[in-house]
Amino acid sequence: MSAPRGVLPPDVVWLAPNVFTEPFWLATAEHRLTLPRCTSCGTYRFPPSAFCFHCRAQAVEWVEHDGTGTLYSFTIIRHAVIPDVADALPLIAGVVELPGTGGVRLVASIVDTDLDAVAIGKPAELVWYDVREGTTIPCFRLV
Ligand SMILES: [Zn+2]
Repeated sequence: MSAPRGVLPPDVVWLAPNVFTEPFWLATAEHRLTLPRCTSCGTYRFPPSAFCFHCRAQAVEWVEHDGTGTLYSFTIIRHAVIPDVADALPLIAGVVELPGTGGVRLVASIVDTDLDAVAIGKPAELVWYDVREGTTIPCFRLV
């Protein structure tokens, strides 16, 4: 598996899915970005939650999104809080807003992007980081 430029090393990437987030991670393992949408009122509920923050219903349907978005915010990580990531720095941690979702924003690595090219408002496209068998993380590349 090859990784995009600008991701955390596989040794520090471990998922801990729960009953609410497992469908998201099962879909990413198949390179599909899905978001939970309330079946009662249609509100996207991300991050996944037990109850709709709008109508308090529980049921959701998982809706696919093409991963086209806009960089809402970012930070550049230059200092290793844990030694295992030192060789991967600097990294860009971004918040990407996904259109058509009522404002869902995904926190993700901004990959294959030069540090001086990153700017709020730039369009972003989805890139998959295959960490290991069964574990794939959505990342974004600025375009
Ligand atoms: Zn609802």
